[in-house]
Amino acid sequence: MKEIRFENVCKSYGKTEVVKNLNLKINEGERLILLGPSGCGKSTTLRMLAGLEEITSGDLFIGGRRANDLPSGKRNIAMVFQNYALYPHMNVKENIIYGLKKQKVSKGEIQTRLAAALEMLQLKGYENRLPKDLSGGQRQRVALARAVVKQSDFFLLDEPLSNLDAQLRVSARKELLKIHDMFKQTFVYVTHDQVEAMTVGDRIALMYEGCIQMIDTPENVYHRPANIFTAKFIGSPSTNIVDIRFHDGKIMIGKQSFQLSSKWIHQINKSKADDLVFGIRPEHIELYKMPTKNTLSGIVKYVENYGNSYCIYIDIDGQEIIAMSEEKQWYPNEKVYIQPIMKKIHIFNKKTTNSIGYPEEMEKYAIVH
Ligand code: ADP
Ligand code: MG
Repeated sequence: MKEIRFENVCKSYGKTEVVKNLNLKINEGERLILLGPSGCGKSTTLRMLAGLEEITSGDLFIGGRRANDLPSGKRNIAMVFQNYALYPHMNVKENIIYGLKKQKVSKGEIQTRLAAALEMLQLKGYENRLPKDLSGGQRQRVALARAVVKQSDFFLLDEPLSNLDAQLRVSARKELLKIHDMFKQTFVYVTHDQVEAMTVGDRIALMYEGCIQMIDTPENVYHRPANIFTAKFIGSPSTNIVDIRFHDGKIMIGKQSFQLSSKWIHQINKSKADDLVFGIRPEHIELYKMPTKNTLSGIVKYVENYGNSYCIYIDIDGQEIIAMSEEKQWYPNEKVYIQPIMKKIHIFNKKTTNSIGYPEEMEKYAIVH
């Protein structure tokens, strides 16, 4: 049972609370991503788990054992930092095996693990180089190799790829997944990059200002955001969030209305929310040149070329809505008719900012934990 549990964990620096009442269970062998904007408390959380930061209140359990006061060296963890933290005066080989030598692992075993790590991370032939004579990608692989040879049960990674350029990041992601496939350690992976979170994670814990906003699979944080923050943070461009009124089965945006399906009407009535907020992702809007059934009319304000698609900024009675289009056929000041795809809409309670939930037949993405 090599799970990790945070129970009501708080962390304060003086009077400032930076992690607030964290409850999180990370299953054995799982890849859990801590995602969130800079300063939300991700590194602090990881450092508490690593034993590098004291827990102000609450309990941390590692493998069923209360670990609040367990020294870092006894937690069976390997950690990879954003800045690699390689020893500059040691060559690649020495950097990789330093921890093992300290742990008094036998010479033969050290050689076996070193050879495997060099092979796996394509570092053969670089054993004698100093970190300063390596590229960023190679340094990053050395940092990974150093963590891999420890063969720990828990692999903690703090923005391990953020110093790499886009192409290297893609290949490094694959390497990380390969490592996980081979050793099946529990991964706790900190990133502010949602693409990394989606591609690496079994589950994502999204944080904001020291609080967890949602913990779920990548599919669910995208398709079933629990609140407005999650809807806006996940996805690019961000989910359109629009204040609406609900009347007679229709949602009103400005002076226009959009008829909802009976399932959605039922869902809204069930929620008993007073004020509602409508959400739709830019990629879930159909655009038309002519009015068709259940469309809202707007004016194109601005068009951005993304290469594989165009991002269209549309004014609908004073509200800005962004839509994506694969075709180059939308130009500023033209009229456009938009239709949110009914199956892809989100509705939130304005007061709580939480989702009012989804009609039952649309639960296909939801995975119950
Ligand atoms: P993230 O990794 O999500 O970017 P951090 O966990 O590093 O965020 O930081 C969370 C908050 O705690 C930030 O506002 C940061 O300024 C604050 N913080 C981090 N370390 C300290 C410290 N040693 N003393 C005071 N405040 C700190
Ligand atoms: Mg950080």
